[in-house]
Amino acid sequence: MLNVLLFGPPGSGKGTQSKKIIQHYDLQHLSTGDIFRKEISEQTPLGRVAQHYIDKGELVPDDVVISMIEEVINNNPKAKGFVFDGFPRTVQQAKALEQMLQRKKQSICIMIVLKVEKEELIKRLLNRSKIEGRKDDDSHIIQNRIKVYEEQTSPVIDFYIKEAKAFIINGIQTEDEVFKDICLHIDKFSKCK
Ligand code: ADP
Repeated sequence: MLNVLLFGPPGSGKGTQSKKIIQHYDLQHLSTGDIFRKEISEQTPLGRVAQHYIDKGELVPDDVVISMIEEVINNNPKAKGFVFDGFPRTVQQAKALEQMLQRKKQSICIMIVLKVEKEELIKRLLNRSKIEGRKDDDSHIIQNRIKVYEEQTSPVIDFYIKEAKAFIINGIQTEDEVFKDICLHIDKFSKCK
């Protein structure tokens, strides 16, 4: 199993790079943000819970996210591995993921961190709001999402640095250059179990 954790602040390019990674390595994409947006558009009970937090730029509670992830992993037994995009977003989620994978005799092979400065993130997200019309790309909510990333999410990097699995990549390059850097690291872990 090649389990890749793609990490970075909102607007760092995780969605774009995830698509390239899953295609190149034949992996399954697991984006919590995408799952929530689908649930919201279908107005499911989970969608209604998620919407309450997403509209404010806050995190959906850990227990909700963790059980949702477990279900996706269990429903994809044939996957050669996952690209986790937008998860784990708290240290609590990271610990739960480790336990979940351990029970399945799996692990996270590598964490890729996309590094992009705050000014550039805001510019990209405001631009995206004009194209995609995502409600949480409003300038006030963007500020909160970046704050939540810095306070609650970035500590997850230390969790994987301690395991020598984290690699930081310059996210201010062309999409292809970023992807090339990502592949250089993932290729070293191709025999990961
Ligand atoms: P971004 O573009 O900010 O990386 P995502 O599309 O990954 O955004 O997620 C959108 C929103 O969904 C987040 O701001 C958050 O409210 C919620 N969300 C996504 N993943 C998680 C998670 N793992 N834990 C808690 N909330 C999450």
